[in-house]
Amino acid sequence: QSLAEVDARVSVCRACPRLVDWRETVARDKRRAWVGEPYWGRPVPSFGDSEPRVLVVGLAPAAHGGNRTGRMFTGDRSGDWIFAALYRAGYAERPASYAAGDGQRLVGARMVAPVHCAPPDNRPTPDERAACGPWLDRELQLATSVESILVLGGIGWQSVHAAAVRVGWTVPRPRAKFGHGAQTVFTVPGQGGGSGRHVRVVGCYHVSQQNTFTGRLTEPMLDEVIGLL
Ligand code: SF4
Repeated sequence: QSLAEVDARVSVCRACPRLVDWRETVARDKRRAWVGEPYWGRPVPSFGDSEPRVLVVGLAPAAHGGNRTGRMFTGDRSGDWIFAALYRAGYAERPASYAAGDGQRLVGARMVAPVHCAPPDNRPTPDERAACGPWLDRELQLATSVESILVLGGIGWQSVHAAAVRVGWTVPRPRAKFGHGAQTVFTVPGQGGGSGRHVRVVGCYHVSQQNTFTGRLTEPMLDEVIGLL
């Protein structure tokens, strides 16, 4: 299986009844600003380089962002922040990401979500996070070129730790606490008993408007943690 196959399969998943209903209701009702435009209304697949050095792990698509455009962090304010920062660091070809087909491309980075469907109030339930976990597991197993993971927010931090344990990576104990600039290192076992490789995991406050509008997360803070990857 390849990452492209995972993307294709996840985009038709219907495992979570509440999220299927929500993503389709939002897509049908639409926000006034986009009433004449199509909405994706399905699980949003990962986006980026097929051989990434860096994974960027958020939480879940936004109802009128990724759930509208069909692309991670595309078409909303959170996306404006993360794409601009990735562009400054050389991981994105363009400073903005407003629609699928806008020419945006990630170089060496791939955006992944622990939950692929937009949840009401941006809050997936524990059961929904668990249901979507196997998709994240496949990402970790298939992204063999990954050296670093940037995790946006505490839920993503928990999800990445849980997925790493499930796929047999060694996670330090006690687990590192999430925080902006928190760092930990996972060990991926080598093939046939060979020595493993290390994956650096870096925490970052989520690029949600709750953080960026209030100044809890600033552009220099974001640039600083991306510089750790
Ligand atoms: Fe499937 Fe994940 Fe969407 Fe649930 S959240 S329906 S598991 S893609």
